[in-house]
Amino acid sequence: MDASTTYSRRRMLAAATATVVPLAGAAWALLSSSSNGQSSGKSEPALTPTDTWNPIIRINLTPEPIDELRISVDGPFRISAPGSPRVLAQEQRLSESPVTTDGKNIRLRDASFPISQIEIVPVRPPSIWVGDSLYRGTIRIFRQPDNKLIAVNVLPLEEYLASVINSEMPASFPRAARQAQAIVARTYALSVMKGHPRFDLFATSRSQKYLGNQYRDTSGRRLAGETDGSREIVRETSGIICTWRGKLFSSWFSAVCGGRTTNGASVFTDAVGALKSVECEWCRDAELYRWNKSFDLQDVSRRLAEHFAVDGSDFGTLQSVTEIPGTAGDLPHYSVSDGVKTLRIAGSTFRRAMPYGELYSPRFAATIAGNEVRFSGRGSGHGVGMCQWGANGLGKAGRSALEILRYYYDGIETVRLRPS
Ligand SMILES: [Zn+2]
Repeated sequence: MDASTTYSRRRMLAAATATVVPLAGAAWALLSSSSNGQSSGKSEPALTPTDTWNPIIRINLTPEPIDELRISVDGPFRISAPGSPRVLAQEQRLSESPVTTDGKNIRLRDASFPISQIEIVPVRPPSIWVGDSLYRGTIRIFRQPDNKLIAVNVLPLEEYLASVINSEMPASFPRAARQAQAIVARTYALSVMKGHPRFDLFATSRSQKYLGNQYRDTSGRRLAGETDGSREIVRETSGIICTWRGKLFSSWFSAVCGGRTTNGASVFTDAVGALKSVECEWCRDAELYRWNKSFDLQDVSRRLAEHFAVDGSDFGTLQSVTEIPGTAGDLPHYSVSDGVKTLRIAGSTFRRAMPYGELYSPRFAATIAGNEVRFSGRGSGHGVGMCQWGANGLGKAGRSALEILRYYYDGIETVRLRPS
């Protein structure tokens, strides 16, 4: 890219100067008391104006800030500073190029921008690739004080959801389950739009999975992140959210509960009363309904020792893991012993101490056998809220999306954020 020739005070295209319609109206008034992200829909000059029910959402594509991004753009685009009408550069396309920072500038190939953030705005989205995913909307790149970068995809909520549905749930799941997933994902997204200066959600299961419009697998094959089917589910449920006592809430969900969902209040500080534990045998077809997995004893012991060292406790080689009796449906806690001392640890903490995603759930029994710790577990994920494989089972049994939602979220109502 030869940005030097276009680094000027060129005016932005008239079509891009439209301001986004402020979020307002009766449906949003209902939500205003729960401090949703009304402000995040403003000052977004780069995108088409959106309706009140479809605000602009900002997705962090780099949960850990990184040294170098790889970006390409499949058509005409410009670069500006977020919120500024000034065009810093524009080109007809961009072949895959590194984006780096030296602490003062953001560098894109041979162009250098002496600012802390830039926004890549394509003329015809989706056309920006970040790594192995193609995204709708625009991409913002922020320079961190530690010389690392974060990339944020900015797009209308409903376009984002068309990818989330497929990213979170197989296309083979029943329509009702996928409709329920759309409503829960929309509710969750809106509930967390609380004004982080740079982004609203992560693109991973830390928030909810989002693969983008397309993505490349490890062999370079292009796969669809969204499809006609997922877009149809979004249209069918457009603007519909769950409320509890008239407000948005964090509608947590997880993959497989393993027989009983987990009481939300025992896991998350923001859990509302709707997130009660319920019996669920609807997920029994899931591969991870029950599972066995072994880990190296010394590795598990070292990880536990690192965890307990934060609180100043020593811990040696693990000798036993015993579940502490508690209330059915609450997050399990365990006592772990190295033969000298016995310490308490929550199942979710134990899971986080292990390599990411390796211990499928916080619900397990564990025994020591030689140099191994053998886990026998139930389900996958934290277990709070809608069980996705349970929604699959309920959908196959003929339940509607609303019935699925009411099964997992006690006492909720559904609201449509625009006239039907
Ligand atoms: Zn379940």
